[in-house]
Amino acid sequence: MNQPVRIAASSYLNSRPLLYGLGRGGARERIHIEHAPPSECARRLAEGEADIGLLPVAAIAQLGLYALPVGCVSARGPVESILLVGNTPLDQWKTICLDRSSRSSATLARVLMEARGRKEMRYEVRDPGACVQSVGDETGALLIGDLALEVAERFAYRYDLGEMWNSWTGLPLVTALWATREPIVDPLVLADLQEALEAGKAAFPQLALAHAVERGEADPAPYLRYLKDSLAFDLGRREREGLTEYLRKANAIGLLPPEIQFAAPAPNRPQPRTGLDAVLSRAAQGKRISAAEAARLLEDAPIAELGAAADERRRQLHPDGRVTYIVERNINYTNVCTTACRFCAFFRAPGRNGGYVLSWDEIGEKCQRLKDAGGVQVLLQGGINPELRLPYYEELVRFIKGFGLRLNGFSPEEIHCLAELEKTSVERVLVALKEAGLDSVPGGGAEVLVDRVRSRIARKKATSAQWLEVMRIAQRNGMRCSATLMYGVGETYYERALHLAKLRELQDETGGFTAFICWPYQDGGLKLRGDQEGAGEYLRTLAVSRLVLDNFANLQASWPTMGPAVGQAALHHGANDFGQVMMEENVVSAAGSVFAMDSAGIERHIRDAGFTPMRRDGLYRLLDEAAA
Ligand code: SF4
Repeated sequence: MNQPVRIAASSYLNSRPLLYGLGRGGARERIHIEHAPPSECARRLAEGEADIGLLPVAAIAQLGLYALPVGCVSARGPVESILLVGNTPLDQWKTICLDRSSRSSATLARVLMEARGRKEMRYEVRDPGACVQSVGDETGALLIGDLALEVAERFAYRYDLGEMWNSWTGLPLVTALWATREPIVDPLVLADLQEALEAGKAAFPQLALAHAVERGEADPAPYLRYLKDSLAFDLGRREREGLTEYLRKANAIGLLPPEIQFAAPAPNRPQPRTGLDAVLSRAAQGKRISAAEAARLLEDAPIAELGAAADERRRQLHPDGRVTYIVERNINYTNVCTTACRFCAFFRAPGRNGGYVLSWDEIGEKCQRLKDAGGVQVLLQGGINPELRLPYYEELVRFIKGFGLRLNGFSPEEIHCLAELEKTSVERVLVALKEAGLDSVPGGGAEVLVDRVRSRIARKKATSAQWLEVMRIAQRNGMRCSATLMYGVGETYYERALHLAKLRELQDETGGFTAFICWPYQDGGLKLRGDQEGAGEYLRTLAVSRLVLDNFANLQASWPTMGPAVGQAALHHGANDFGQVMMEENVVSAAGSVFAMDSAGIERHIRDAGFTPMRRDGLYRLLDEAAA
């Protein structure tokens, strides 16, 4: 019998998902694991006492080892377990104590200090406990791993190096990889490592619980969040880019060699499955995937496989082959707005030429035309006009409801700003509007629910937490809402995935979202330089949205922005609704092309795509059923 493969790895919580499955199934016979601190793992691998090690990136580079192309420990934002801590702000420190068990994090700390112009910073290498003790007015400490998770709260100032790296480079921070001494690796070992990782990702709750129990703590939730939200374990294209950038920056200041070589699977042997297959198959069955996994799908999954998985999920939720649409009308009651989003070509600042507030006659005529065309709902949205106060909005709602139409009105931004203008609560505004007759709240203005992105494109807009809070309160008060994503505004794939995860989290809490729709930023030559993204990117984003939003019943195809043909393709990439007959659109069309179709056109396109068209109301009830 062959000798088992000797693996050296730390027992830190961040290593455990990579190790979990190695102690199970057939891998248990083939693999022997020994736990040691990362620096000791590196020594054992370099000196032949281990065959494979889970090592800090810096150790792999310095020792000239070969990384394995499967799994990693990485973070796409705050990592929580690599922290600079101190009693004073970082700018007052003259010395940083570096935990001697960390090479990659110590290098990262130095790279980040150089980037901040702190070339004069002194560094002292000590044992972890001594680092904690040495913190003073002019001395900070680098803490890593479980120690960082445990003692960070003691310090007034904490700087998360994962967050600093991500804000600076926009790339994931890869801290550890599997490594070996040889340039060729047995594919069976790679397959064992990949399968172990998939088992580990499915076992986050058990791993978090075991870790809490080991520490005598009752609540595993912080550890579960750490595994699920702070870390990522798949080695995708973005992780490789992050790794390359880290090595390049560390090499530029003489700390590390410029690159790491990857070992290749031995030829003529069965090759391992990629982790993407497993994520896609889980997601297609409606099982939950993390934001990091969703980001990896956005980056790396072949569009055909992504579309097939999203289509499978759509069929589970809507097996009858029906595709719905609604006849409604947008009414943009005012274009005067103080928020001045960089991407918006619709608004006019107060007092500027071209600003308007629709008269009652104009609004009444639009409502009547909608009724005459068999329409059932008004989508009412406008700018943030400081001249219009709550009594105006109440009257506006009552006026439109007088036509016997359903009213879906006012984005969270409008409601949030009205509450500020009235110096009252969001709840009071929403209750007043509901009593006046408002039926539901559309999800406009979400853009990307990550404040780094929002502050770049819409500095004065409500924060992501405020947007979500308006939705939470509306739903708590019995109003249904929709959710949106406008992508391609400078966000990373991870931030796009995070947006979806935030919507999913609120839906878990309230169940109040009826539907989701996404579209790309329309570049109409405005101040914002976003990517003009094409049909492929749209279908990719839609498909991943279908897979992440496992608790959303309906996804709309955005044919008004993408065109009818892409709209038809969207029905095979996760969408089950063809949106609305566009009787009027002003906001998106002000910044780019918008397509229009009447009911007959919509129904023809749905049929040509292989589905049965059905009209619906604003709650996604089929109209016949709704009338019953
Ligand atoms: S997108 Fe809305 S909030 Fe932003 S400037 Fe345009 S009208 Fe105002």
